[in-house]
Amino acid sequence: MKIGIIGGGPAGFAAAIKASKNNNQVTILEKNNKVLKKLLLTGNGKCNYFNEVQDISKYHSGNEEEMPEIINEKNIQMVKKFWEDLGIIPLIKNGYYYPFSGTANSMKMALVNKASDLNINIITDCEVLNIIKEKKVFKVTTSIDTYYFDKIIIATGSYAYPQTGSTGFGYEIAQEFNHTIVPVCPSLVQLKTNTGLEKKWQGIRSNVIVGIVDEGKIINEQSGEMQFTDYGISGICAFNISGYISFVLRYQKSQTISINFIPWYQENDFKSFMTKRASSFPKYDLITLCETFLNYKLIAAICHYLHIDSKKTWYDLSEEEQVKFASALRDFRLEVIGTKDYLSSQVCRGGIPLIELDLNTLESFLEPNLYFAGEIIDIDGDCGGYNLTIAILTGIIAGTSAAEGK
Ligand SMILES: Cc1cc2nc3c(=O)[nH]c(=O)nc-3n(C[C@H](O)[C@H](O)[C@H](O)COP(=O)(O)OP(=O)(O)OC[C@H]3O[C@@H](n4cnc5c(N)ncnc54)[C@H](O)[C@@H]3O)c2cc1C
Repeated sequence: MKIGIIGGGPAGFAAAIKASKNNNQVTILEKNNKVLKKLLLTGNGKCNYFNEVQDISKYHSGNEEEMPEIINEKNIQMVKKFWEDLGIIPLIKNGYYYPFSGTANSMKMALVNKASDLNINIITDCEVLNIIKEKKVFKVTTSIDTYYFDKIIIATGSYAYPQTGSTGFGYEIAQEFNHTIVPVCPSLVQLKTNTGLEKKWQGIRSNVIVGIVDEGKIINEQSGEMQFTDYGISGICAFNISGYISFVLRYQKSQTISINFIPWYQENDFKSFMTKRASSFPKYDLITLCETFLNYKLIAAICHYLHIDSKKTWYDLSEEEQVKFASALRDFRLEVIGTKDYLSSQVCRGGIPLIELDLNTLESFLEPNLYFAGEIIDIDGDCGGYNLTIAILTGIIAGTSAAEGK
């Protein structure tokens, strides 16, 4: 049987490796001159490929209730074993898995060498332009030739980071085979704000808890280092709420978020902490009083935002100003007005709906012998190795099923 894999990313390779049995002839068609271009960029070139902490809350889909059929303990262990079987030795930092070599190139070479052992035909500089079904076979028109396959696995990625080749082609093809697409938007991406503080706080990094404000309540809290920039905010904790935000910004102009600048303070009443602190240092102005736990530029920016004079001592502030300042450090509300675009986003939210696929095989319910794998499917993950886990897992499922029978 001839099996064609469209896209030479991690999902395409996992699918090809698993499809290579029962004397199947497996071909990967890749439009770039090299395969696995995006994989080399992952984890800042070190490739965070897996995470010890596996909880369904780390993954997102428009068909949430279907997710456990794919994201479950048995399947996650299959991904871990896949890398072990390729000889990858992990370096585990706080539960985050990286190759021990310290370079994503190890992951690339493990996949490429295995594909070569299995005689998988890899054709690069080959952009797929169109796929149609002629009788029972798929006719694939590319920039260099026309190919015929009994089965096709589409693993062309999303719109994210199109510099690496993923330009959303797979969505078009899926629609031609009558699939719908859960609206696609950037995720794991920087957030834009217009507080007027951007120039003042640019360059600061601070450990915070950030959350989304929904009907006055803070939901989806994420903690970690936040980077303040000239356009807004960045960092893993901002990235992890960005998928939700870019989705809702399709329907509304802005989204309120809350930043807790004092995550180390567990009690509720920060004003009494400040009053106690001021009693030890009564002559200190606000910046001096707080700069032992917060960057002084950040304190100045927050004071500016609240119209409070940062040169004043705690005792110079009115009762109202003290409350305002103390609560702003715990729950600083600001509006996110946009996200950076696909050129900057690590992944996309949305894609082929889970309900249109047989989740045991990832074969289309609408077109026999057509499979999907990787980011093109409507599941995305938080930062921390979850997206490569999805790519490999869906590649394994689609490749294994395509290899069987018919
Ligand atoms: C900067 C960056 C850092 C990241 N870091 C991490 C990380 O540390 N951990 C993690 O888990 N995830 C990370 N990710 C996300 C992860 O890389 C992706 O989720 C994953 O690569 C998706 O795999 P894929 O095979 O589905 O798609 P891709 O890797 O995008 O591969 C799709 C392939 O299809 C090819 N293609 C597209 N259209 C055509 C066509 N018409 N014809 C032929 N070929 C085509 C493309 O050229 C591409 O090679 C990162 C992403 C980026 C951008």
